[in-house]
Amino acid sequence: MSETRAIIPGTFDPVTSGHVDIIERTRSLYDEIVVAVALSPEKGGGTTFTLDERVRLLERATEKLSGVEIRPFDTLLVDFAREVGARVIVKGLRAVSDFEREFQMAQLNHGLEDDIETMFIMAIPDYAYLSSSAVKEIARHGGPVEGLVPEAVRTAVVERLHPGR
Ligand code: ADP
Repeated sequence: MSETRAIIPGTFDPVTSGHVDIIERTRSLYDEIVVAVALSPEKGGGTTFTLDERVRLLERATEKLSGVEIRPFDTLLVDFAREVGARVIVKGLRAVSDFEREFQMAQLNHGLEDDIETMFIMAIPDYAYLSSSAVKEIARHGGPVEGLVPEAVRTAVVERLHPGR
């Protein structure tokens, strides 16, 4: 497995500027990034955007970055990491509230596959409280989401959640 390839998993429903920041910063450390888009969210429930839509929005959001590939998956993350040849899983951490869940997942994954490591990158202050659900909540009520998501995502979110605007 490659030392130069990292995998960044998530639901990305939709991708936000916080996600793009983590992807860019990880890309500055690793030559190749696989952004792994989970079919369904960890926490359960449905998604606002289909898997295909989430993949396409991520492709547009990262089109200026070289060495970044967007791949859907619906298997165990460690199995998918192995399949794409990545030894490192990179996750973004926002507030302390992310920690408990991420710590648990990192331990479970380590138990499943001990040669794959999870590494964390801290959110920058501007994006520390930014989540896909916050963006959707703002858009649903007609609020401004400029800067919180890439431009292509802004259009898609407004069309989906606040049509006619
Ligand atoms: P969310 O937690 O917003 O529903 P995902 O499941 O798609 O999003 O998250 C994928 C990864 O991106 C997780 O590790 C999450 O902690 C991280 N992440 C999400 N939003 C941000 C942000 N604003 N800054 C840094 N990392 C983030």
